[in-house]
Amino acid sequence: MEGVTLREMDYLKILFDAEEHDYIDLLGPKKIAEKLKVRPPTAVEALKKLHKKGLISYTKKGIRLTRSGKLVVMRYLRRHRILEVFFVKVLGLDPEFVCTNIRGTELFVGDELIDKCCEFLGHPDKCPHGRPIPHSQFCLKKEGEDELWISV
Ligand SMILES: [Zn+2]
Ligand SMILES: [Zn+2]
Repeated sequence: MEGVTLREMDYLKILFDAEEHDYIDLLGPKKIAEKLKVRPPTAVEALKKLHKKGLISYTKKGIRLTRSGKLVVMRYLRRHRILEVFFVKVLGLDPEFVCTNIRGTELFVGDELIDKCCEFLGHPDKCPHGRPIPHSQFCLKKEGEDELWISV
């Protein structure tokens, strides 16, 4: 996915989460390192790479996801959560089991496949853990709704 590794996605997800829950201002490299249980220089290095890829920016207020950074996370979350719903609903598997076992596949699975699953499942709004599922342009065309897709 846009040359992002699974590890880098962990960084992006932390920033995305912080932004959603309004504590992004408190999040420096040190805090991020703590959350990921890595040494601060490791986090600084990783953040530098994400900056180079245009996925984060350094502002006066601190580290922020760029628009493409946000889109990368939302696509990742969509893939993860649609797969979760699929395996839980269709195969009746345990949500935690599925969540752990699909880790990493989100980077490689095709969006068209995810769209097909989404349609089959009736465009679910929430994953088995109750978190929101971003919809794609494909869903919008089907459903005629407009605000669902990634209003960033
Ligand atoms: Zn999960
Ligand atoms: Zn959908």
